[in-house]
Amino acid sequence: MESCLFCEKEIKFASLGSKDASRAYCPQCGEYEVSRTAIVTIIHNHLSERQKANISGWLVENQDFEINTTNFNNFLINLSTPSFLNKADKLLTYIAKQSGYAGSSIKYDPKFMSHSYSMNPFELEAVIEYLGETNRVLAEGGNYYFEHEYKITPNGWIHLDQISKNNEHSNQGFVAMWFDDSIRALYDEAIAPAISDAGYDPHRVDLREHNDKIDDEIISQIRKSKFVVADFTGHRGGVYFEAGFAKGLGLEVFWLCRDDDLKDLHFDIRQYNCIVWNDSKKEELRKRLTARIESVLSHGNNS
Ligand SMILES: [Zn+2]
Repeated sequence: MESCLFCEKEIKFASLGSKDASRAYCPQCGEYEVSRTAIVTIIHNHLSERQKANISGWLVENQDFEINTTNFNNFLINLSTPSFLNKADKLLTYIAKQSGYAGSSIKYDPKFMSHSYSMNPFELEAVIEYLGETNRVLAEGGNYYFEHEYKITPNGWIHLDQISKNNEHSNQGFVAMWFDDSIRALYDEAIAPAISDAGYDPHRVDLREHNDKIDDEIISQIRKSKFVVADFTGHRGGVYFEAGFAKGLGLEVFWLCRDDDLKDLHFDIRQYNCIVWNDSKKEELRKRLTARIESVLSHGNNS
């Protein structure tokens, strides 16, 4: 048995021969992939307990993420720590998702730890205690939090309705782009670090699943975001949809396009101030995107 790089739970690693990477199946962080060189980098970095908790929390929200040294150094080590209230809301949202409907209850599972971005059982217990004190969750049975069953109260469901309409405190930037091999590095080398440098946390949907499939997960992640970064290279219908949906919600959208694809940009988009990039200008794109986000929204909370 090996242990998870972030939560230290005993887990299984499956080697992915073709990719020189391993796939981790962690009861707390969920599934992620990590390259061989990234494993060495992660171990050498001696992450703090807080950094590990933040990465574990981010991974459980960004399932099937492929960790490499670039994205690890560029933004995973700088992820922000959610506020206490935000941790409580995240855990409440997870319990809601697991229970499915008002009135049902669920058993404790190890993902309570990652969804609440808790470093240890003490922190998790404080979050659970708060959810009880505010009458949002009812915990019953057993002496310890991990023996309890959890049920969201009607008051808790109402609170969830309210926070889904109001994401002004969100620190998430949703990334809408074409996940094609030709522009895949753009995310790791420019977009994600630019969002991180501006003080926010990047969020993208699974590479393999996405490509024009709009599902409930995408809709709910956009709803939870503070803004959207949309790259129109490849002119995917999904990207147009996600940017338009975000605009309709009143979210800020930052527009990007590779220079050779600009000519095909849909007419309605051209009125927006698009950041144009090409492969030799990724570093410049990173700086310009950070500056644009900071000038429109001011610096985020990931310190
Ligand atoms: Zn883990």
